[in-house]
Amino acid sequence: GCGICVRKCPFNALSIVNLPDELEKFTVHRYGENMFKLYGLPPLTLGGILGVIGRNGSGKTTSVKILSGQVKPNLGNYSNPPDWNEILRTFRGTEINAYLQKLANGNLRAAVKPQYIEAARRVLKGSVRELLEKADERGLFRELADKMGLSGVMDRNVRDLSGGELQKFLISAVLVKNADAYFFDEPFSYLDVRERVRVASAIREFLNPSKVYVMVVEHDLMILDYVSDYVAVLYGEPGVYGIVSKPYGVRNGINFYLEGYLPAENVRIRKEQIRFRVTVADRSKLPEEYPILKWSNLYKVYPSSGFRLSVEEGEMHPGEVLGILGPNGIGKSTFINMLADVVKPDEGEILIGTDKISYKPQEVSPSIFRFETVKENLADASKDAVDPTSWLYDELTRRLGLNKMLDRKVTELSGGELQKLAVAVTLAREADVYLLDEPSAYLDVEERVSVARLIRRVVEEKRKAAIVVEHDLLFQNYVSDKIMVFTGKPSVEGVALRPSDIRTGFNNLLKQLDVTVRRDPETGRPRINKPGSYLDREQKTRGEYYLPD
Ligand code: ADP
Ligand code: ADP
Repeated sequence: GCGICVRKCPFNALSIVNLPDELEKFTVHRYGENMFKLYGLPPLTLGGILGVIGRNGSGKTTSVKILSGQVKPNLGNYSNPPDWNEILRTFRGTEINAYLQKLANGNLRAAVKPQYIEAARRVLKGSVRELLEKADERGLFRELADKMGLSGVMDRNVRDLSGGELQKFLISAVLVKNADAYFFDEPFSYLDVRERVRVASAIREFLNPSKVYVMVVEHDLMILDYVSDYVAVLYGEPGVYGIVSKPYGVRNGINFYLEGYLPAENVRIRKEQIRFRVTVADRSKLPEEYPILKWSNLYKVYPSSGFRLSVEEGEMHPGEVLGILGPNGIGKSTFINMLADVVKPDEGEILIGTDKISYKPQEVSPSIFRFETVKENLADASKDAVDPTSWLYDELTRRLGLNKMLDRKVTELSGGELQKLAVAVTLAREADVYLLDEPSAYLDVEERVSVARLIRRVVEEKRKAAIVVEHDLLFQNYVSDKIMVFTGKPSVEGVALRPSDIRTGFNNLLKQLDVTVRRDPETGRPRINKPGSYLDREQKTRGEYYLPD
């Protein structure tokens, strides 16, 4: 057996050639000879929002393209594509049949928020207001812009928006369309926690899933859990083939995904479980060791913009990861620049600082790299990263799968591949402090776990420190020893609370957002409460916003 199936393996092996005939019947699409093959389609029906989870390269975007009418499924027959009658015959009796009927008859309008948003920046011309007004078919662009927090940037050129603003603009441009089916391919990258919750509520508020089809592809499982009613899993071998599961209720579906076993299919999709650390024990270790960073209470005001920042005192030790939570424009970079002695505080001082910070910016695009190929960029960061006998090569290059793409050009990498290279290059460099701004963007769940582990290992092995700005709370919980929350009013005033344990930090953050999080009784994973629900009200009364005992 291939190790994938729990009992008797119905596929017999992992490779396509051995997939059984019964699965071949459900071939939906193949790009060409020896190319990626998709089996089945996400079970899009009316009545609830469908969340889709799966590894990068497993066919999520291909599914979106087919269901939105951009790609006509060829049933695997790429040299002689079938007509719609034949396609419909194949899907007779399946959940997706009604949907495909409408698609075939041309009775279906689809609106899509694409995965990789940086490309949109280059083609869109005009201000947020102009473009939203033009796209608005439902007469709700003002209300929506308000709900999305875009009101302040309405007259800004779309080209000049920050990553998070661009994301919110593109989601709004989809929501104002009068469509029959709405697709959101990774809508939460570059958004802070408050914005994630807000966008998820907007999707639920502005679309009625009993009247229109709604599908969301997302790897932040806490927020996917919140936005979806049911989920489908795409599994298989990334880049080779993908199989779509049956629909599961959202809670069970995510639990099965983490466990790596789908009961309705009786298929093991992964050898190990993914365990998000759910115990929130204090992981600050080796307190006797000398701090690598230490700061007193700090205060800074920029005279030109009037922005002011107060920071509570704190310190970091070798081997520690400090997680930072907070919106954009709240002073996170200002704080980092004070640590690096680039910005001088008006009051207080950096007692132990550093000038050696290795930094990964939030937005990933080919332009952030200095060299043309993956290998050149890695080698420039550290010779060890490209030396197969070294520790770093094993931990970093091989574990992230970069060893298989060393000769590829950065301009040819996908969003997830660019992110892994950016993280690898940042961690391979010599530095005292590694600063990673949103390392999870475009990574799938498995890659998020690998990157979180990698950050921990590198920091522990090198006896250095890392600061991770990250809005995926499961990832943050996994990677960090301590949490520092930035609050206040973006662009006006920031307050940085002292580093605390994870439970306290999350509790502080969620309290400000007025969001409560409970524990799933079966797996212990955190789940966002529906606003106004019994648990939500009860936890708020007790002031326990994050995982009460
Ligand atoms: P996901 O969205 O789950 O990351 P995709 O649907 O984008 O996956 O891609 C699945 C696989 O199909 C990948 O291996 C990708 O390289 C391949 N693929 C996507 N588009 C094309 C295409 N136009 N021609 C050939 N292969 C493609
Ligand atoms: P974050 O990293 O949380 O996004 P920053 O520290 O970059 O926040 O910025 C906080 C605020 O300070 C923003 O409103 C920004 O425009 C302003 N700001 C940053 N640098 C300067 C500067 N050199 N002069 C004036 N204002 C600045």
